This record gives sequence, C-alpha cells and structure tokens, in this order.
Amino acid sequence: MAGRVEGKVAFVTGAASGLGEAMVRLLVAEGAKVVIADVATERGEALAAELGGNGARAAFLRLDVTDEAAWDAAMEQTLRWFGKLDVLVNNAGIAPSGDMEMPFSVWRTTLSVNLDGTFLGTRAAIRTITRSGVPGSIINVSSTMGMTAEPTTAAYSASKAGVRNLTKAAAVHCSTHKLPIRVNSIHPGMCLTPLVRDYLAAHPQALESQIASHPIGHLGEPEDIAYGVLYLASDESKFMFGSELVIDGGYLI
Ligand code: NAD
Repeated sequence: MAGRVEGKVAFVTGAASGLGEAMVRLLVAEGAKVVIADVATERGEALAAELGGNGARAAFLRLDVTDEAAWDAAMEQTLRWFGKLDVLVNNAGIAPSGDMEMPFSVWRTTLSVNLDGTFLGTRAAIRTITRSGVPGSIINVSSTMGMTAEPTTAAYSASKAGVRNLTKAAAVHCSTHKLPIRVNSIHPGMCLTPLVRDYLAAHPQALESQIASHPIGHLGEPEDIAYGVLYLASDESKFMFGSELVIDGGYLI
C-alpha cells in the first residue's frame, strides 16, 4: 500500500532530535525521502544512517538556519540528491527562558533562530519548490506560546507569534503569485522530547504544574506532533492554507 507521502521529498530543520526526529521517522515510514538538516552533525548522521543511509531514503546535511548563504547551498544539495523539493518543515528552534529583564543577546538569539531562520527557510523553499515544478507544502513549527505567553517566555512567545503571522504572509504571497504552495503553522503544547524529559525529571514540581495546564491530563509525545506534520505534508490537507494546526492537549482552552 502506498504511503501517505509516497514520492515526496521533504526537508526538515532541527531534525536530529526531539520533534524533528519523530517527523523524519514518520515521513520516511510513509514513503517520503527526507533531508535531515541540523547543526548537530553526529546525531543527524546517525539518524540518516539508521534510516537507510547514502541518501536512499534520508540524508543528513549540516545547516545553521540563521545562515542565509547556507540555505542556498542546502537547496542545491537537496536537488542534487533527490531531484526536487515538495515539503519544507521549519522546525529548528530554541527556547531560552527569559522575562522582560533578559539580556538583549538572549532576545536576539531567540528571534534569530526561531523567526529569521523560518523566514530564510520559507523564502528558500518557495523558490526551490517553484523550480521543482510541483505543488508544495511549507510547515512552520510555532507553539502554543505563539498565541499566548508565560512570564519567562517573552522572546520565545514573540518569536513564535512572528512565525504564526509570517506563515499567513507567505501563504498570501503564494496566492498572489499563483504559486501552488500551501503554507501553514503548527502549534504544539508541551511534548516529552528528551530535553523536556530531562528537565522535568530534575524538576518534579514543574512536571505537576505542566500536566495541570494541559486539560487532557498528560503531556504530548513527539509522535503527536509528527502526525500533524504528516497531515500537512500530505495531499490530505489540500484545503489547509495559511492556517493554524493546534495540537496541545487543550492547553489553549
Ligand atoms: P530540541 O531541542 O529537541 O530539537 C531542536 C533541534 O534544533 C536540535 O536538534 C538542535 O540541534 C536544532 N537547532 C537548534 N538551533 C539550530 C540552528 N540554528 N540551525 C539548525 N538547527 C538548529 O527541541 P524540540 O522540543 O524538538 O523542538 C522542536 C521545535 O518545536 C522548536 O521549534 C520548538 O520551539 C517547537 N516546540 C516544541 C515544544 C515541546 O514541548 N517540545 C512545544 C512547542 C513548540
């Protein structure tokens, strides 16, 4: 039976761990070829090797999403490996804690990775999908924090709100220029990635309060978000356009 994204080529940033890794595994399992892009070379190479290696199903590429020139090289390499690009997932992100007294450097780094990186990726993918001559899907990983804020998420919430509205601007750009590319954002609640697991193991009280703020009664698993990405990457979501897919266990209720 054909997979849900059979024949598609996807590029996932921040793909060597956490949510990105789960997205890569699911997209490959459902028939896509995937470029694993990350600054974490060792973990990214190991994941690509496990999934078939040598570019058969997955290939690793070192990419810092804040590096404008590196995006051009990454798109060229994707075309050399797999011949086209159908799907980009702008997933790379950082979440340093910081209230309104945070150092300016923390603000700038957070905005740079989360928002500049998403802009550069979205622009590069619009160009590369258009060159490929295929209909495309761009999926921007925002957060529930892109719709609300907590005392220590000032830069993170600002960056993820930026991702949310950049997504809509990119979607209307594609519409205006008659480009068959859908752009949508996805908004996870807190998920048990390895980093989050380690943090909560060391801070049991934080675990209790986080669970309490998710009315479903537990935190998410990386696969919960990966299935949303799979839907947005597949043709099943052909009427999703400039929209927001919230997967948060009820956090935003
Ligand atoms: P993670 O830290 O496990 O993974 C992030 C990956 O991004 C890492 O592999 C890291 O090496 C990579 N990365 C960091 N900076 C980069 C850069 N400049 N260029 C390229 N790669 C870079 O985090 P995660 O929890 O899997 O989060 C993935 C995305 O989901 C992020 O955008 C995050 O804001 C968002 N998110 C996560 C949660 C959650 O609970 N885990 C909730 C809401 C949103």
